[in-house]
Amino acid sequence: MIRPAELIQRKRDGAELADQDIAELVLGYSRGEIPDYQLAAFCMAVYFRGLSPRETYALTDAMVRSGETIDLQAEIGRPVADKHSTGGVGDKASLVVGPLVAACGIPFGKMSGRGLGHTGGTLDKLESIPGFRIELSRDEFVEQVREHGIAVIGQTAELVPADKQLYGLRDVTATVENVSLIAASIMSKKIAAGADAIVLDVKVGDGAFMKSIEDARTLAEAMLELGRRADRMVVCELTDMDQPLGQAVGNALEIREGVATLRGDGPADLTELAVASAAHLVTLIDSDDHADARARVETALRDGSALETYERWVRAQGGDPSEDALPQAPIVETVTADRDGYVTRLGALAVGLAAMHLGAGRTVKEDVIDHAVGVVCLRKRGDSVSSGDALAEIHAQDDASAKAAADQVKAAYELGDEEPKAVGVVLDTLS
Ligand code: URA
Repeated sequence: MIRPAELIQRKRDGAELADQDIAELVLGYSRGEIPDYQLAAFCMAVYFRGLSPRETYALTDAMVRSGETIDLQAEIGRPVADKHSTGGVGDKASLVVGPLVAACGIPFGKMSGRGLGHTGGTLDKLESIPGFRIELSRDEFVEQVREHGIAVIGQTAELVPADKQLYGLRDVTATVENVSLIAASIMSKKIAAGADAIVLDVKVGDGAFMKSIEDARTLAEAMLELGRRADRMVVCELTDMDQPLGQAVGNALEIREGVATLRGDGPADLTELAVASAAHLVTLIDSDDHADARARVETALRDGSALETYERWVRAQGGDPSEDALPQAPIVETVTADRDGYVTRLGALAVGLAAMHLGAGRTVKEDVIDHAVGVVCLRKRGDSVSSGDALAEIHAQDDASAKAAADQVKAAYELGDEEPKAVGVVLDTLS
């Protein structure tokens, strides 16, 4: 093997590295044979010089090989679907997409993460359901997908350990924001978890990692290329995160909204995104005709089979699917409009931060989540309001935190005289 210092130097000077060199660097680091400082320097060299598509795949493949992998199709006997979002505010789409896809007869198996900062995580939302077990073993995960057609669990420690180590290092060395490193990090986890068809939701806007559509497109293209090289069927959606998705932001509140959506009573943007994502997965695995796949998904929503699938899934993972079982905050404070007009802006980041300060999210990994609290944005961009109308509800544990969040949420709303141009939730789709 070439010495790590030489590889760092070559990347620093703009050279393209051999697959084997990248693999030895990553796997050596993962085994503790190469120190943090050399990988940190390597990541910084990558940050400035980038990686070619071949190098990005070599990095992804090495990360996949650092731990256990699952071949779901071999174990289940059929292709399996998965979904990933780059993270947003109020993003409970997975809770709806999974049951929709499974109700169409396609197995859905997802390993998920927790939220950090202003964005929420699917696991935290699921843990607001009393009894729900997110810590299934690998074998229980496979068995649950085989038996019930759907499982969502926390990523096991054995899966892509190199990503966990590398992400921790990037987080403290200002090297997170590189497209190749982000794409390799996300796709290594998806590839190792074993699904055949994957919908990737790349959020764009004020509440997202990617602030511009150009950056989101670059990330989406890098992930599509990794999917092609790894022989996975992938569709990327670029979706709006300039305002929260749906109305609810906060764990139990989002579960309620997800269930309402499965009942056919959900907000239009969440319903549209969930149906579009599910239709892509059905098309990738089971249909040549996208319109037909979408019709199947819409039927599953209309005829109650997606809701039934949700309830079966939650019970199978030990949870109580009834809405009455969900925790509720004791205080609900209303934020009102102080003028007539249109909602011209509803800042996703500000709403996400307000929910986080209420206790719905974490500022550091060790924080304990309060599942009951959060924000419900009753009015969204483009809605007309009269002075005194309710804009949002704050669900809090005490008056002081409710008041602080109400001020933050009020500031997140901009009201104006002109109706803003309508923007759909799905901004673009790449495959
Ligand atoms: N999400 C990930 O999983 N990895 C990154 O590098 C960034 C976001």
